[in-house]
Amino acid sequence: MDFKPDPEARCNICGHEGPFIRPEGLKEGYQCTNCSASSRNRLVMYVLGVMLGFGDRPVFEWPENPSLRILEPCPRGPQVPMLQAKFDYVTPEYDAEKIAAGADPREFADVQKLPFDDASFDFVIASDIFEHVREDVKGFREIFRTLKPGGTFLLTVPYDHARETTLERVKVEGEKDIPLVEPRYAGGGGATLDYREYGRDLLQKLRDVGFAVGFLQLAIPRLAIYPSAIFICTRQAHVDLTPFLAACPDADRARYPSVGPLLPNRLFVWYKFNLRSLGYFLRQARMRLFG
Ligand SMILES: [Zn+2]
Repeated sequence: MDFKPDPEARCNICGHEGPFIRPEGLKEGYQCTNCSASSRNRLVMYVLGVMLGFGDRPVFEWPENPSLRILEPCPRGPQVPMLQAKFDYVTPEYDAEKIAAGADPREFADVQKLPFDDASFDFVIASDIFEHVREDVKGFREIFRTLKPGGTFLLTVPYDHARETTLERVKVEGEKDIPLVEPRYAGGGGATLDYREYGRDLLQKLRDVGFAVGFLQLAIPRLAIYPSAIFICTRQAHVDLTPFLAACPDADRARYPSVGPLLPNRLFVWYKFNLRSLGYFLRQARMRLFG
């Protein structure tokens, strides 16, 4: 996709105004020269900010709310200490040995077997970790269980919407991992195996767990957010994507329907979205004609 950030693009994590570097890194690129946030960091924070009612205000300016519980296994990026200062933000790393030895679950946990109570988080964020989770569906079920009713799971993964089914790089059989293609590892230490590259069947995988799933591919030039996929999954009947689209009318956007388990909900969301779009179009036309 042909993407160019605005010349005055601003980082929605630290508030810095451009330039952004490493555009060849795409969703890992367009790094802020002030806080080093990647396009992916800013995308996830943009969606969280809209859901919390802060729009695209920089994360460091968000008001504190220690009663808001957010779980994010293995978080990376400059927003991590900012969120830690404002919310009850639980950020366990994965380390099999430490988990087996009974480490503090706030510090070490396995997403396939979360050491947290049912319905205990308002948000769960998983930003490019699920391609490394051995049994991803177990992880999705655990996240569903630990989310409060009405809570939201924000998910990004290496994802290709043109791919119908997920490319499994490794076959998981009992305790054994059998490589199906040349093994690939992420991260500097080379310790994190890539189990898969997701295709469109991910949407159904998430729905089968019980989530209503909204899929957005947002490009937001004024925040230097490169077009990449984010999944907004809730324990409600449907996901309303309207706020994300309404909050970025200048976005060059692809949109896939919000999918709830109930047909009337789908129709309702479609109807509402199209009415809002019409309203936006009419306002723009009026401004152009009458100034
Ligand atoms: Zn920044």
